[in-house]
Amino acid sequence: MLNRVAIITGGARGIGREISKVLAQNGIKVIVNYNKSKEMAEKLKQELKKESISIDIVKADVSKRNEVKEMVNYILNKYGKIDILINNAGISNYKLFIDVTDEEWNNIINNNLYSVFCTTQEVLHSMIHNKNGCIINISSIWGMVGASCESIYSVSKAGIDAMTKSLAKELGPCNIRVNSIAPGIINTDMISNFSKEEINDIIQQIPLERIGKKTDIAKCIKWLIDDDYTTGQVISINGGWIIN
Ligand code: NAP
Repeated sequence: MLNRVAIITGGARGIGREISKVLAQNGIKVIVNYNKSKEMAEKLKQELKKESISIDIVKADVSKRNEVKEMVNYILNKYGKIDILINNAGISNYKLFIDVTDEEWNNIINNNLYSVFCTTQEVLHSMIHNKNGCIINISSIWGMVGASCESIYSVSKAGIDAMTKSLAKELGPCNIRVNSIAPGIINTDMISNFSKEEINDIIQQIPLERIGKKTDIAKCIKWLIDDDYTTGQVISINGGWIIN
């Protein structure tokens, strides 16, 4: 993994934080993108410094083209290339479809789907030039099977998976692999609105009898980066909750 440069969107918190840590600990030059969580990003930088690992942190709202462009230019000027892009940033909402406003639709689609389109486009110039790249998009099981009261979130994640498959075909000849990881339920802030009872109900439905850990996702990311013949796949890490 040495000498490779990776950017993780939303890398200061939750699943992204664990991915950033694992990649940095495996010798990858990690650039952690954050939007609101500056303190968390700085804390992660300090934590890794104690292990003699140096990471970079960059602020950008990945739903805004100009901020993404600025971030990518900064990285390319400093490191000369980007080998790995982890499109992890995302938000959720929980509402009856009939009550969702245009503003809420735009917010979810911009933060979850447009952000992947935009960041991938900006990073691709360098990857295509170098004929090398690994892109991993974090989608969700709800993009595969749909979720009641999370229809817009599900649409955004299904869109990510469709983009993954299309780009794998388009970019394979440039030696760029594109895959999705579709998590089930993972213990992060995103599920903080679930009650203990709700979590227990979900666990009853999971063959491996537990919810996922951030490390479950990070391990798969590491494997996908090391691999060189997997592309266009949606790998669902969900403890057997959803089996297609
Ligand atoms: P989380 O703890 O709520 O973290 C969300 C991350 O996304 C934060 O780092 C946040 O950064 C970042 N983010 C959101 N909007 C952004 C924007 N416009 N620009 C830059 N960063 C932005 O959630 P998580 O559970 O780690 O989720 C990570 C990914 O996994 C998401 O795509 C989510 O949909 C997906 N996922 C999660 C679960 C689950 O059960 N947890 C299940 C399936 C899929 P800041 O705090 O810096 O703004």
